[in-house]
Amino acid sequence: MHKKLFIPGPTEVREEILQAMATPMIGHRTTAYAELHQRCEEKVKKLLSTQARVFLFTSSSTGVMEGAVRNCVAQKVLHTLNGEFSRRWFEISKANGLPADILEVPPGQAITPELVDAKLAEGGYDTLCLTYNETSTGILSPVPEVAKLVRAKYPDVLILVDAVSCMAGVPIHFDEWGLDVVLAGVQKCFALPPGLAVAAVSSRALERARTIPYRGYYFDFIENEKFAARFNTPATPSISHLYALDKEMDFMFAEGLENRYARHLAMAEHCRAWARKHFALYGDERYASPTVTHITNTTGFDFGALNKELGKRGATISDGYGPFKGKTFRIGHMGDLTLADVQWLTAQIDDILGLR
Ligand SMILES: *Cc1c(COP(=O)(O)O)cnc(C)c1O
Repeated sequence: MHKKLFIPGPTEVREEILQAMATPMIGHRTTAYAELHQRCEEKVKKLLSTQARVFLFTSSSTGVMEGAVRNCVAQKVLHTLNGEFSRRWFEISKANGLPADILEVPPGQAITPELVDAKLAEGGYDTLCLTYNETSTGILSPVPEVAKLVRAKYPDVLILVDAVSCMAGVPIHFDEWGLDVVLAGVQKCFALPPGLAVAAVSSRALERARTIPYRGYYFDFIENEKFAARFNTPATPSISHLYALDKEMDFMFAEGLENRYARHLAMAEHCRAWARKHFALYGDERYASPTVTHITNTTGFDFGALNKELGKRGATISDGYGPFKGKTFRIGHMGDLTLADVQWLTAQIDDILGLR
């Protein structure tokens, strides 16, 4: 039996999208491909309220995280850490030999404008990395406010945002907020199979990239820009994913972006209320994520046994990530899941654990 995915990625993929992935293949140096690529780019631009370039990368999000720092960091990058995914980005910079510092807060806390201001004031930074939704802790940091501060006080600092687990689940206004790179894999809130990542890149970021001699090869923004200008990619893309993205974005706009964001929030609110009633919500509740709810296992139930029983009923949820394994658990409510789906899920857990 298929287990419905209530995990923070990959997420449940609807039947129409599985069908779209099976569309017969075309060559990627054809007009038909360029038209498909252009449609996808325009739809992602609309989603992010931007006129900036949008790249379609055949890779997981991690690849683009690496590409972003390689293309943007000329002097020194400040990584903001509040969990395992933001830590990964810092590890990536280190693995590339880039000068990198960290601003770290305990897990469950958010990265705030005040903290960023104090650290950037030390000087020497030309790039800031932010993790919008830290999936390992279920915390959505106030990126619009941080960006506003940075744009006002540190005009030369590029703002790079990992929006992997919230793009298409919360609003992102790339141009208005003054962001320079925002990236996401499509296996989370886009509800597509894993293997494609999208990124908006500002002209400021492209200018910076032109000054950097060794940007790497596959994710070289300048080389990708040359091809993107004619709606193409340097290497063969996952064309199947573009068919799927093109179609899924039609579903998104048919629902309405505001409705989509409200649906994510409604699912989150249901999960939070349920978590407070039976367990405890992890972390600073003011920044609780709209796409994944992180819950402390206060009663010490056997998570593996619960998930096994849920599996028999056709669903699966996530254990705590990394250091949280066994101590917390996470319910992903992103993509095309509905309020009815999460209500059904929590009712199943109530039944299995005998919660009332
Ligand atoms: C899932 C996730 C990643 C990693 O994405 P991949 O597509 O597996 O590389 C990075 N950052 C965040 C915040 C995530 O949720």
